[in-house]
Amino acid sequence: MVIAVLAVQGAFAEHEKMLGRLGISFVELRKKEDLLQKYDGIVLPGGESTVQGKLLKELDMFDTLKQQIQDGMPVLATCAGLILLAESIENDDREYFKTLPVTVKRNAYGRQLGSFYVEQEFKGIGVIPMTFIRAPYIESVSEGVEILAKEKEHIVAVRYENQLAMSFHPELDEDEQIHKYFVEIVQEYSIK
Ligand code: GLN
Repeated sequence: MVIAVLAVQGAFAEHEKMLGRLGISFVELRKKEDLLQKYDGIVLPGGESTVQGKLLKELDMFDTLKQQIQDGMPVLATCAGLILLAESIENDDREYFKTLPVTVKRNAYGRQLGSFYVEQEFKGIGVIPMTFIRAPYIESVSEGVEILAKEKEHIVAVRYENQLAMSFHPELDEDEQIHKYFVEIVQEYSIK
């Protein structure tokens, strides 16, 4: 199994470290040709969705990545990654992949006091650490989207078919369970 980590901007190194700890091989996606490599899943890291979206278009990676996701490539998206996947962004006119039928709100917790840490239940896993950094939350989901975690009344993690997305940053805490869950999804899809 090889996981591709989008590495144009943001917290990709932390995801790579986590994959390394789990003994999973990874490649980086930095330019168009990197999308021709063989991999079984993609990580879209946190960072700045506007910058990532712009770079993906400038580097001519956007359409191929969108196609791979639409074709069923498993994706783990954290924070800005969730914004890139969302079908609609409530407080921003920009549009990205739109493969995940949810509406998100960017910087939903405020810009300044927007960073915090909680320990919360994640469906099927139990209580895990969740670090939020100027995070979005999910305002609404369409049918077929499984809600995996809430922080107070807000949805912060979902799964829809091959896409696993969350507002927080599992790569910044020691807990490996989210990445392990993603690896299980990748295994599930690779034997299909
Ligand atoms: N605020 C960022 C955005 O809107 C997301 C923050 C993050 O990824 N930690 O893209």
